[in-house]
Amino acid sequence: MNLTDLGLGPARRALGRREFSARELTLAHLAAIEALNPRLNAFLLVTAEEALAAAEAADAALARGEGGPLAGIPLAIKDIFCTKGVRTTAASRILEPFVPPYESTVTANLRRDGAIFLGKTNLDEFAMGSSTTNSAYGSTENPWKRRQDPAARLVPGGSSGGSAAAVAARLAIGATGTDTGGSIRQPASFCGITGLKPTYGRCSRYGVIAFASSLDHPGPMARSVEDCAILLCSMAGHDSRDSTSVDVPVPDYAAACNKGIRGLRIGVPREYRVDGMPAEIEEMWRSGLAWLEDAGATVHDVSLPHTKYGLPTYYIVAPAEASSNLARYDGVRYGLRVPGEDLIDLYEETRGAGFGAEVKRRILIGTYVLSAGYYDAYYLKAQKIRALILRDFTDAFAEVDALLAPTAPSAAFAEGEKTEDPVTMYLNDVFTVPADLAGVPAISVPAGLDADGLPLGLQVIGRPFGEETMIAVAAQLERAASFTALPALRAGSPAI
Ligand code: GLN
Repeated sequence: MNLTDLGLGPARRALGRREFSARELTLAHLAAIEALNPRLNAFLLVTAEEALAAAEAADAALARGEGGPLAGIPLAIKDIFCTKGVRTTAASRILEPFVPPYESTVTANLRRDGAIFLGKTNLDEFAMGSSTTNSAYGSTENPWKRRQDPAARLVPGGSSGGSAAAVAARLAIGATGTDTGGSIRQPASFCGITGLKPTYGRCSRYGVIAFASSLDHPGPMARSVEDCAILLCSMAGHDSRDSTSVDVPVPDYAAACNKGIRGLRIGVPREYRVDGMPAEIEEMWRSGLAWLEDAGATVHDVSLPHTKYGLPTYYIVAPAEASSNLARYDGVRYGLRVPGEDLIDLYEETRGAGFGAEVKRRILIGTYVLSAGYYDAYYLKAQKIRALILRDFTDAFAEVDALLAPTAPSAAFAEGEKTEDPVTMYLNDVFTVPADLAGVPAISVPAGLDADGLPLGLQVIGRPFGEETMIAVAAQLERAASFTALPALRAGSPAI
């Protein structure tokens, strides 16, 4: 048996029975990273020594019959979660020398439960993007290949593209991501894995480098709904260091996988039927609805009338908050410093050299929409529309228990295909941004392949703090889809 093929549930059971050690499991993943990461560039930093030390501690705990729910499970951490003493860059030059003196709450929770961190994964700089091509440290390659054109280098989606590629290629059992406008779900869809964005406030943002604070949602990425549910149990919880963290109990999300969906009402948001959507995605959406009906749910048309304003609203609110959050990178307090003739010159030189093109674009848009004279016309208006988008969801959830839609309007594209034009790129977020603007939970599950053999995801959107129902629906989709296809580039594959 190849240890890198195991999902979290099976690995955890086998570790408990001492069929192999945490050290062996960790070594298998480190070997896979060594073999594949030079090509994929999924990890920006591999922390082999720390991982092996943690594995030894996990083995000792397991031998005593102790160890937390994740004892000995090797994970990949998006390089936007601060890890104490371990370099954290947000894939930006401006944070190249940054070694955080503290640990994010989410990673602290995972460590508390025994998880082993293999390293830090690549992302679009400051999580701004949908392709992981906006990283200052090179792009990440999607481990999937087009059947007809295996030479094309496909993007893994973004911004959590390094995490998604690592999990898909079996370099890690699970990973952390953050979703501000789709960055957990869209890369999960592009890489044929599962990604869960919980309700806003469910997972603490403390120690997660801020992009847009009112939209940033940390969450799990893994190879099954159950694995995501297990990870969420550890990641979630109230945190007094994040003022938007919500103090509600953390249920047993994994148990929700077997709840069944008989009698649940599933909504189909009619505004998500956009022009130009590939027929295969339409088809998969219909299949998804049929699978849920077969399992005893009923399907209902619903309307989210403000959907068409989702993208323009997001691309005002997110850059506005980003421009404010990124003001802290001034070359004085931490990170990169490029000397200047005076203080203003130092700021300009540092920020000019430290930020990439997309980040600069967002800062320009953000400061523009927040400036006197434009604030009311853009930012305030966007905030009002955001309230209407939330109301759309509230109204829909008065009638249905969950919504089903595609995760993205396309499969993975090749580098250069959309990456040259920022607006085409922004359009890829059409189905994911509304759930971020409303703060409602959503999960992407691999549901099929397109004609090129590339994975496509379906997304279940739930009520605020309705993760259990959402997980039950997603688990049913997963069973019905029985998605077993594997990417060309993966640990132990004959292709490498
Ligand atoms: N693609 C979106 C953006 O570029 C979402 C990114 C994210 O969720 N972090 O802003």
